[in-house]
Amino acid sequence: LFIIHAQNEKIQAMSHVAASLAHEVRNPLTAVKGFLRLMQEGPNEPYKTEQYIKISLDEIQRTESILTEYLSISKPLQERHEPINVSEQLHVIQEVMLPFANMHNVELDVQIFDTPVTIIANPDEIKQVLVNFVKNSIEACADVPNGRVMLSILIEKGNAILLIGDNGIGMDEGQIQRLGSIYFSTKSSGTGLGLTYSYHVIHSIGGTIQVTSEPFIGTKFTITFPCLAQEKVEANLTA
Ligand code: ADP
Ligand code: MG
Repeated sequence: LFIIHAQNEKIQAMSHVAASLAHEVRNPLTAVKGFLRLMQEGPNEPYKTEQYIKISLDEIQRTESILTEYLSISKPLQERHEPINVSEQLHVIQEVMLPFANMHNVELDVQIFDTPVTIIANPDEIKQVLVNFVKNSIEACADVPNGRVMLSILIEKGNAILLIGDNGIGMDEGQIQRLGSIYFSTKSSGTGLGLTYSYHVIHSIGGTIQVTSEPFIGTKFTITFPCLAQEKVEANLTA
């Protein structure tokens, strides 16, 4: 009976995901189909054609990110954990996200601790989590003059503390409350999946997330991970 119950729950959850995925992919498809029809009926003013193509490409891009994010959220978390030097990861993220930051005229600042800060986790998942947070911060700064995103890492009381701050649009109390819940998004082309996934990964390795934010001032995420002491890191590497 228990197995049947668990199966039913799984199927229910799956059909819920399938339904919303279908809904989210159908909208951009309908839009692109509409624009292709308009061009087929043509001839149009060149500037109109250009506009139709631009909107269609945007919609296709959106469909792509929806699919990527759904896939990452539907995969079970990986069991392969290993020591990760977060300072090093922040350098990687800085490089990966620089073009996106430049595109939005946002400065990306990274402050790194001298000694390695090591946590035990799956490297791919941690990288995705960092990308999700930094991407949100850059997007929050997109229409702000002197937009700036700051990343830093430090050790406090044996924990690794990761700070992600921005001077972007910020959030009100209601929005802060909804952070991490599935499909919560205030963006016209958002999925509301990035933080759901990130919170899931962080909690799965015993981490916690704290948020302070103020509308039009900015946002700061403080993520605390259990940290591996340096002697243990060395033991782990030589083992
Ligand atoms: P998405 O980015 O697709 O909207 P996320 O799960 O990544 O979905 O984020 C959910 C929502 O949380 C965003 O739409 C936004 O409203 C809010 N949010 C997250 N990070 C920030 C931030 N740094 N500044 C302001 N709002 C944020
Ligand atoms: Mg996001």
